[in-house]
Formats: sequence, C-alpha cells, structure tokens
Amino acid sequence: MVLYSPGRTTSYPETPPDKGMRYHYLGGGDEVGNVGCMFEDYKGTKMLLDYGLAPTDPPRYPHEAPPVKDAVITHSHIDHLGMAPWLCSNHRTKLHGTRLTAEISRMMWNDCYKVSRIEGYPLAWDKRDIDGAMASWQPHDLNTPWKNNDWTLKLLGAGHIPGAAMLHVETETHKLLFSGDFDTRDSSLVNGAKPEKTDVLFVEGTYGGREHPNKEEEVQRFIERIVKVTERGGTALIPAFANGRTQDVVMTLHKHLPELDVHVDGMGKRVAKIQMEHPELLRDPAALNSAWSWCKKVSSKSDRKKALNADCIVSTSGMMDGGPSIWYLNRLREDPRNAILLTGYQAKGSGGRMLLDKGKVPIWDKETTINLEVDQFTFSTHSGHSEIVNFASQCEAETVVVYHTDPTNARPPLVEALEANGHEVHTPVNGISTNLN
Ligand SMILES: [Zn+2]
Ligand SMILES: [Zn+2]
Repeated sequence: MVLYSPGRTTSYPETPPDKGMRYHYLGGGDEVGNVGCMFEDYKGTKMLLDYGLAPTDPPRYPHEAPPVKDAVITHSHIDHLGMAPWLCSNHRTKLHGTRLTAEISRMMWNDCYKVSRIEGYPLAWDKRDIDGAMASWQPHDLNTPWKNNDWTLKLLGAGHIPGAAMLHVETETHKLLFSGDFDTRDSSLVNGAKPEKTDVLFVEGTYGGREHPNKEEEVQRFIERIVKVTERGGTALIPAFANGRTQDVVMTLHKHLPELDVHVDGMGKRVAKIQMEHPELLRDPAALNSAWSWCKKVSSKSDRKKALNADCIVSTSGMMDGGPSIWYLNRLREDPRNAILLTGYQAKGSGGRMLLDKGKVPIWDKETTINLEVDQFTFSTHSGHSEIVNFASQCEAETVVVYHTDPTNARPPLVEALEANGHEVHTPVNGISTNLN
C-alpha cells in the first residue's frame, strides 16, 4: 500500500510564514506518539522535529513531510523515529540527535520492519532505506550548540531514556524549547530534565491530569510482590520494553534483591550493551555495568529452558505482543505459583491489555485463558501532571504548546493548570499551521 504520493499528500504549506515563525504538526499534535512537527521562520529556514509512527494495531502514521533538509530526532523510541528512513530516502534529510540515539536507531528500525512484515502493515519505506538513514546521522553532544542558517540549536538532557534529548532553538525572533518525551525526575538510568529559559515551550502532555505514584512506594510494592512469588516457589515473568524499561527493571532488581536468580531476554540485551558504551549519558554507569554483569543473559534455546526455573524473567515484548515473553508465558501458565508483573503502559489491542481486561492473551494466534496472578506497576519515565506544570513555569515560557497527548482526557486539565499560571496555551491539531508572531 502506498501511504504517500510525495509532494501531493503533505498538509504543510508551500510558502514560509509572512513574519515570525510557524509550527505545524504532521502527527502527534493531538495524540500520543506518531510525532512529526515542522517549524519554519519567515526567511524559509525550516526543520522537522521527530518523524515517528504510533505502534498501535494497526499503526498510525504522520502526514507526509514536505521536503526538509534537517530533522532532529529527540530519542530512539519508534513513535519518534519510525518514519525517518522514508525522509532520508525521499528528501535526503539529515538526522540530528545524540550519538546513542543514532546507534540504537538501526535496531529499532529493523524491529519495526520485522513487525510490519509479520503483522502485514504498510511502512512506506523498505529495509534498504535503513542503511541510507544510518548514513544520514549527524550526532551532537548535549549542551553543544550548532548552527542552521541563522538559528542556533542545542540538545539538552530530557531524562526519559538514555540518549533522549530536548531541543532548544534560538532564531532571530524566538526562543523555542521542544521537550520530546521528558521526565524531570531522576530514574535508575538517567538524570531528570532541567528547565531552560524559553519563549515558547512545546511540551509532551502524556500524563496531563495524572500524578505518578510515589516512586519508592511503587518499587517497594514491586519488590514485595516478587518476594511473595519466589517464596512460594514461583517464577515472576516481567514483560518490559527493550529500550529503557528492561535495563531500569534489572537495575531495580539488582539493587533490592541481589540474592535472586534473574534472567534477561529480548532486544533489551543489545540496547544495554550500546548504552554502556555511552557512560556520559547515564546517571550511574557503574550501577548499570554491575547490574548487567549480575543478571543472566539468555542467548540460546538451552538458556531459555534454563530460565524457566529462574526467580524472575525480564523479557520483551513489554506489551505481550509476541517475542520471548509469549514463549515464557506459554510454559509458565499452568503453574499457579507463577505470576505476571507488567511494568509499562499496555496499548489498546495489545496482548497485555487483553490480559488485564479479559484474563486472556493471544498465544500463537489462539486466545488463551491465563490463570496466573497479574499485577501492573507504574514505572513511567514521562513527567506527571505537576512535573509538567512546574517545568513550564521554571522555563518562564510565555507560550506553552501541549502535544503528544490525549486531547479529550489528558490535555484539558493540563491546559487549565498552565493557564492558571499565566501561560498562553496552544492545543495543536494535526495538519493545521499556527503562527508565532
Ligand atoms: Zn513518545
Ligand atoms: Zn519515548
């Protein structure tokens, strides 16, 4: 299926704004993920921030990007970079981001391609476009400015996952700050994002209207549940996303339950190896190194069988959509001493969502009833409601643009809180341009 007919299906205007600047969401303006945001000044200098897709079932894709020479990729999650190979092969776009984001991107694109084949989804780019995209990277260190015409740009730490960055842009008329996915709280892996003075803050509102539970208490609840499972002789199956969550969970287990036998499977193993090559982007590289040498890495069929007797198995897919976690579930599901501990968001249509709602999971295409204890834990590395509101006031932003958000439930309470603090708040809609004068 052809998604785009280049040059004809973009929603982006052909000419620059008359004065000041314009921004325009191709995706992610009034939805979570699927991000693509064009911004341009009156002289025609323009850029794209992120170009992802939403890994829902079926996936959602952003509008077609116009020809653009430069794109900044904030981090290596698929909802922020999934469509970048299309950009590079159609518009020869250069990709700017941290070195770690660049190095993990190949793995994320390969995985995205593989999933699209298995599920039969269109992707608009081909496997050979991955090489072109890899060659298009221009890596930048954090806090190190570079120029694009008369704009000065720099990447700042965003928290969230290792390598994740916010983008600060200084133009003739405006200072802009794009948060990307960000968290102002420290995690095991990364330091929290720090505010930066700006005129216009583009902030992700995933958790608008929702506060996170206290982190220590949530970790305690997780640890207690694992102790209960292992004391009765069971195995705790812990599905976790590969990029960030797997490493975070392993570090938590190493810190609190070093006596346990913990096995790790899935793409998170390769992600960890690359992360450890970039200690400058980690909060405590020694802690990740020692947690990683402590856990057992599953790398063969016999390792996988051995893992069935472990205390904990940490594995992808984090949403129980295939991957080793389904292989383990199929073998662990008959013994009620075992349990499933979900560690992340479970999207509509995912196996994990079905497990929570109906007590069933598709195993090799067959909906299978699971009679195991199931619990869900909130280890989110997105800022919660109060963190977003405080961040906006610390940035002293006159205008706040709330994107990467659910427009009906999450955004309204956030808009209200931001307006009460005196910010002018924008609520972007995909495909519609807004001018900043
Ligand atoms: Zn995101
Ligand atoms: Zn993310």
